[in-house]
Amino acid sequence: WTRLKEGLTRSSSAIGGGITDIFTKRKLDADTLEELEDVLVQADLGVTVASRIVEAVGKGRYGKDIAPEEVKQILAAEVERVLAPVARPLVVDATKKPFVILMVGVNGSGKTTTIGKLSAKLKAEGKTLMLAAGDTFRAAAIEQLKVWGERIGAPVVARQQGADSAGLAFDALTQAREAGTDVLLIDTAGRLQNRTELMAELEKVVRVLRKMDPDAPHAVLLVLDATVGQNALSQAEIFGKVAGVTGLVMTKLDGTARGGILVALAARFGLPVHFIGVGEGVDDLEPFEARDFARAIAG
Ligand code: GDP
Repeated sequence: WTRLKEGLTRSSSAIGGGITDIFTKRKLDADTLEELEDVLVQADLGVTVASRIVEAVGKGRYGKDIAPEEVKQILAAEVERVLAPVARPLVVDATKKPFVILMVGVNGSGKTTTIGKLSAKLKAEGKTLMLAAGDTFRAAAIEQLKVWGERIGAPVVARQQGADSAGLAFDALTQAREAGTDVLLIDTAGRLQNRTELMAELEKVVRVLRKMDPDAPHAVLLVLDATVGQNALSQAEIFGKVAGVTGLVMTKLDGTARGGILVALAARFGLPVHFIGVGEGVDDLEPFEARDFARAIAG
């Protein structure tokens, strides 16, 4: 909780600080409520959620004094209501051997880092792992995954830069089966610049996996960078169509004032949110908890 709270400082000071500024020594009226709505929209919560919160705050309190703390409590309760249905842990089905996790998202969103962090968690639970360097487009991504693999003590299946990622996925699943690995995590490329190519590549990876195991990939995790704000919505839309996303991980919630985007995403897509990234370190991946997040962001 302390880390989450610290990580979300900038988001919570934008929202909580805004609320304090608006409601200190002022009555609740159309003006203050409009200012509240502005603060919430600025913080990327989205118009739908912002107006829902404004309505909840305004209900039965027009013309009265309201303490900033009370506004924050109402906000936290409303945000929690939006987030509660999507706060769902990632369940690794032990009957699938291996359980195949495909990580998707645009370059720089934190895919490779999240694979590293998630692998460390799964390893600590006693699971055996294999990593596949499926972002064959960037040499740095392959190297980075190898470093994580060494650090965690998990084998990394990799080919040279430019190799076919679907072929690599095939190899990785074959090897993971032979080794009796519990979880296979597959990295992918995320060049949104060439959307058609990206789609074709991801679709091919999924197709190859499915051919080997009709249920695979068992989880398709979309990694979204909180600092991109509203852009996260279009990324969720695109990857949802291409890769059949089953859950979200939101990274870089530390040091951004745009943490509210997670609330907008939840309201729009209703996709499960499994984890949030609050730093670059191996321990900086937290299971997503609706109440904690709502309280932290309310300031
Ligand atoms: P990829 O291109 O999607 O694989 O992204 P990377 O995993 O290479 O991450 C891009 C950058 O974001 C790296 O410098 C990471 O250390 C950093 N990063 C990833 N997750 C987080 C996070 O939760 N918080 C912060 N502050 N940085 C992160």
